[in-house]
Formats: sequence, C-alpha cells, structure tokens
Amino acid sequence: MTVPLDSMYQQIILDHYKHPHHHDLPAEFDAEVHHVNPTCGDEVTLRVNLASGRIADLGWNGQGCSISQASTSVMSELVVGETIERALELSEVFLELMQSRGAMTLTDEQADELDDAVAFEGVSKYPARVKCALLGWMAMKSAVAEASATSDVGGS
Ligand code: ZN
Repeated sequence: MTVPLDSMYQQIILDHYKHPHHHDLPAEFDAEVHHVNPTCGDEVTLRVNLASGRIADLGWNGQGCSISQASTSVMSELVVGETIERALELSEVFLELMQSRGAMTLTDEQADELDDAVAFEGVSKYPARVKCALLGWMAMKSAVAEASATSDVGGS
C-alpha cells in the first residue's frame, strides 16, 4: 500500500530509508529489544547504552516498509546524545502527532524539535500505517525503560 505524502516529506523518508542513521548494533549495551509490527511485517532490533541520564549510544537494525525503517532512523538521530527525559518528551510529541489522524497542528517549536520526524505527519491519516511509524519509537522507549531498570545509574 502506498501512502500519498507531500513530495518533500516523501523524499526525507526515502533518504532515511536508503541511508539509515545509527543502523549498527553496538557490541556492548545496557538493553536490547526486538519489536515487531505484525500487521505490516516490520521488525526492529534496538540496543541502547545509558550514561549519566543520557542516551549515550543507540543502534538498531531491522526490516520492513520504508515508513518503519525511516522513522526508526529519524528517531535515532533525534535521541542519541539527548537526556532520557528529553527523548521521552520527543516520543510523546511524535505519538500525539501520529494519533492525531492529520488533525494536529504542530507549534513552530514542536516542528523544530521533531525535525525530520515532521515528514511522517501525513502518515497519521492512515491508521494502518501509524504503527509502522511508531515502531522504532516504541522500541526506544522500552529499551530505555529496561536499561534504566537494570542499570545502577543513580546508585544502589
Ligand atoms: Zn510498515
């Protein structure tokens, strides 16, 4: 199924699909997750390393449609080096956008912080594809939660 998107946005998605960022699993990691989107056949394996409350490193690989793979690439570019808090904030804004069915108008600030992720705005009109766009973000969230739960950051 092809989703008709704005051509500039389509180009951003295609670029990330062809040249995914952080598309390499770090050998050492605090947590690894594997998420699938069975309705489309998308898969993502993602590893994170946390340090001092930040996402020090994140790498992934996967297979599936261009929306799922490109969205994971965009997500990784946005969150690597950011604080965990910030990464989760971004994922909330993106989740809200994806669940808006095309009805959400981003503030300039939100558009700035989502950067290339705004390219997926049009996907929100296609409920069947929303899970594709969210796959990598959900994987990041659960990997961070898992790493936070098992790491000794914060002292114990
Ligand atoms: Zn998909």
